[in-house]
Amino acid sequence: MSAHEPLSDHDVFALFPNVMIDRDNIAHYRALAAGHLAINRCGDCGYWVYPHRPMCPECLSWNVTPTEVSGQGRVFMFTLIHQLRDPHSNIMEPVVVAAIELVEQAGLRYLSRIVNCPLEEITLDMPVSLTWIPEGAPRSPAFEPASAQGLEARG
Ligand SMILES: [Zn+2]
Repeated sequence: MSAHEPLSDHDVFALFPNVMIDRDNIAHYRALAAGHLAINRCGDCGYWVYPHRPMCPECLSWNVTPTEVSGQGRVFMFTLIHQLRDPHSNIMEPVVVAAIELVEQAGLRYLSRIVNCPLEEITLDMPVSLTWIPEGAPRSPAFEPASAQGLEARG
């Protein structure tokens, strides 16, 4: 992924203290820490495996490898969360949470947030692109309207 040494398991645990990290998802979080969105892909049949599992449900191969995705997709569904879970969080409520259907595969839906888009402008099937939001360290993946790519922050 880069010339740098990959983070140790201990480092990944320390970076995501509120996430239940296990053997199946640690590679995903290690990639996030490095600024990459990676999802397991079967090395035998090419199927993308999400949620994170160590085995391909299509061909039952254990040859799955975290593989970076393009970050392009469409809004499959979304919801609005008003609950303030952590009074010390710097996340401004409410939060839009969505299942983003990635272009890599029909039905490959990554759960993430939608940002840089007024709520009333979010529509199903809206093209979106991966972006990174500076809330927390490391930065978190989120999706924004594809038309917002390359634009400075909008009002
Ligand atoms: Zn497979």
